Formats: sequence, C-alpha cells, structure tokens
Amino acid sequence: MFLSESCAVLARHPALKDFASSVTDFLDMHLPEPVTEEAARPPWLDLRKRAAQAGLTGFDLPRAKTGPAHACGVAGDRATRTVPPHLERVAQGLAMFLAGRRDCDAREIFSSGHGAMAVRYGRPLVARTVHDRIVGCGELAGVASSEPHSGSDLRGLRTVAVDQGDHLLLSGTKGLVNRVEEATGFVVFCKVVGTEQAAGQDADGAWLREVPLSALWLPTATAGVLTETTVPLGLRGWSLGHLHFDNVRVGKELLLGRPGDGRRIFDSHFSGWRLMMAMVCLGAATAAIEETMARARRRSVGRTSLANVPSVVSRLGTAAAEVQAATAWCFSLLERIERDGEDVDVAACSAAKALATDVSYRAVDIGLQLHGSEGYTRRTPMEKRLRDIRGLRIADGPNDTLYGVLAHSLLTDSRPAVPLVAQRQA
Ligand SMILES: Cc1cc2nc3c(=O)[nH]c(=O)nc-3n(C[C@H](O)[C@H](O)[C@H](O)COP(=O)(O)OP(=O)(O)OC[C@H]3O[C@@H](n4cnc5c(N)ncnc54)[C@H](O)[C@@H]3O)c2cc1C
Repeated sequence: MFLSESCAVLARHPALKDFASSVTDFLDMHLPEPVTEEAARPPWLDLRKRAAQAGLTGFDLPRAKTGPAHACGVAGDRATRTVPPHLERVAQGLAMFLAGRRDCDAREIFSSGHGAMAVRYGRPLVARTVHDRIVGCGELAGVASSEPHSGSDLRGLRTVAVDQGDHLLLSGTKGLVNRVEEATGFVVFCKVVGTEQAAGQDADGAWLREVPLSALWLPTATAGVLTETTVPLGLRGWSLGHLHFDNVRVGKELLLGRPGDGRRIFDSHFSGWRLMMAMVCLGAATAAIEETMARARRRSVGRTSLANVPSVVSRLGTAAAEVQAATAWCFSLLERIERDGEDVDVAACSAAKALATDVSYRAVDIGLQLHGSEGYTRRTPMEKRLRDIRGLRIADGPNDTLYGVLAHSLLTDSRPAVPLVAQRQA
C-alpha cells in the first residue's frame, strides 16, 4: 500500500491511533475532498477555530508552563490527553501529513505554528497569553524574520529594537511574510541595540551584522504596526505581505529568551517547523500519486490502460519511492527530536525539508502530466498543489540554502567517524 510510511509510524506508535482518527474525522467532516482552485475557498481561519474547539490544537506545546483554562472557554487541552507524552512532534507531523492530503493551506488548522516560540521561550505571562490565544481561541501566530533586502541571510537583518531603558522602540520592514492579515501576533527577529549605538552608526546597516539576533513577541494590534498585502502564486489561503514597524513601543517583557538568543530560538524552532512543512507537501504528493494511479487504471490509450504503459509505471514508481523515502526520513527526524529535545540536528532537518518539498513537487508535476489537459485546469487539485508546494521550496529557507546547510555541516565536522558496529574481539 502506498501510504505504508505513514502507516508504519502508527505501527511504531499505536498510542497515536486515536489521535490520527480524530484528525481524520475532523478533516472528513470539514474538508472531505482535496481543495481545487475552482471551488469556494474554505474558511481557513474558522476551521482553525473549530479545531481548537475540538481540542485538536496545542498538543505539540510544552505542558508544564500551561494550564487547562483558556480565555475563550474551550477545552484546548483535550488533545493533549489523546497524544501521549514524548509523541507530540510525531503527532504534529502526522496531523500535517493528513492535512496536506486535503490541501497545503490546511497546514494552519492543527499546528501551534510560530506561536510555539512565544510559548516555549516567552516569560510566563507572555507564554500563557499566547497559549490562550492560539490554543484556546484558535487564533494564529506568524513569524517576521525576512526583510526585503535579506531573507536567507539572518545576519543581514536590519530591523532594530532600540533599548530605551524600560522599553524597546522597534523599527524596520519585514516581508514577504505569511499571515499578515490573520495573525494575532508575530515573533519578530531583530537586533537589540543601545541608543548611542543606534545614533552613531552608518545608515547602510553593515555594522548590524555583528549584533546578535534577538526575538520578541509583538501583538499585531500594537500602535505603529502597519500591514501591506500582495498576491502570491500559491498558498493563497493565507495572506502574504509586508509588516512595517514605525517606532513601535515594545515592553521588554515581550523579549523571548534573553537579548541575543534569537539564533538559538530560530534554529530550534525552524528545525521542527521545516519538517512540518515537509510533511504537508508529502501528504499532498501522496494524495496526488494515489489520484493519478486511480486515473491511470481508468484511462485507456489506444487498446491499453494508461497503467500498463511502462514509462508511466516507471515514473509513478519513481515518484512513489522518492515520496516514501522522504516521509520515512522526516518521521525519523521527528522521533529524534522527541528523544534528543533541544539538541536538534539542524542540518539534517534543513535538508529533509528541501528534499521532501523537491520530491513532492516532482510527484505532483508527474500527477498533473498524467491527468493531461484536465490536470492543467483549476478543476483538479494538481495545479494548486504545484503552486503551493512551489512556495514551500522557497519559504522557511530556500531549498538551495538548506542543502548547503547539510553540506557545510558535513564538510566542517571534524569528529572521528563512529563505527556502525563494534569490532568483534579476536
Ligand atoms: C510563500 C512564502 C511564505 C513566506 N512566509 C514567510 C514568513 O511567514 N515569515 C518570514 O519571515 N518570511 C517568509 N517568507 C520569506 C522567505 O523566508 C524568504 O523568501 C526566503 O528566506 C528567501 O529569502 P529572499 O526572498 O530574500 O531570497 P534571497 O535571499 O534573495 O535568495 C534568492 C535565491 O537565491 C538563492 N540563494 C540565496 N542564498 C543562497 C545560498 N546561501 N546558497 C545557495 N543559494 C542561495 C536561493 O535560490 C534563493 O531562493 C515567505 C516566502 C514565501 C515564498
């Protein structure tokens, strides 16, 4: 069976079966078919709120800092009871995979998303407030890292938070950033500097490369935060645009971790997050291959079924093998994150996202091709999947950069190779 890798995860972790059933039931009820561009756009934010009411959000967040009561009065801790401890990341990956089978824009329904950074690294009041909003109320959190002049290069970020003693003054522009219209707040990556430092430096911002990255939680409704949207090629279920910060006054209690902790927070969060985006695309690719196989069986060319044409079989087999291999790698990395905690293999997670989104794109492209002209219309989910996955080959780190992260880590690793098996004594 094609879905064997997601089934294998459930076979390894049977305690997740109830959770997987709950997610599938929710999707069957609210998103029964894969989404096409031609159909009415699903009410994505409303679906997220419904998932929160059903207790299907927040299962991936740490439990110690959060209590069961929520501002919106819904039982957001119900899911934490169906997901056993130490399986939260795997559960999140499974939910993303299942959501991706319906649509890549469904990625926001179940996940705690970028709000997880505020819950994990924020002071108790920030952690609790963000948890209440994104889990209890089903609201959405975004991340504002990229800037118009620098997306891939974190050291090049120029958004500054000038330390005014009792507060920070934030200025700069972020984008392109997802969820600019929907998010209740953003984790903003910036450089915290002193007033004298800010006044005495060149305007080109080159000096800022030496200032370590910091992270803070910024409610979108804060005075001085302006949003501007644009129309992307895909992933149109959620807005994309710029955020402008015009001397935004930010309390220091909104800093995540200490000033300068931004890179650590970024790497730790994005290792898991990239695997989630990988899972969404792999779910979409799996559905695409299944639909294409069904069509190939039905469709005749001349006197034979499309499913009997050797080159068709070979291409579908290649796509299935690549998608299966990437799925197995991503689940194995999620299992390692569960085991190793903060000691995440950033390089492997980065490259796994790149590989998963690349193989998913190839699989959907083959699926579109084998649907013929029908595949090229807005009536099938293929073209939407192709556009959506295309975006995730750039978002959360362009794939070229992410493969480079793995190569760099291998090239600079000076540790002696560990033998796979111990040498037998003579
Ligand atoms: C759909 C979508 C959603 C997004 N959502 C968010 C969001 O929510 N928050 C946010 O902060 N940002 C978001 N982004 C921005 C995204 O993170 C950046 O686009 C990405 O990091 C690339 O930065 P850039 O656009 O400045 O491209 P550049 O840095 O200019 O790079 C352009 C291209 O050059 C190549 N390249 C760059 N550096 C290297 C390298 N070191 N090695 C090899 N090749 C390289 C890559 O092919 C890359 O795509 C989103 C982007 C997209 C497309």
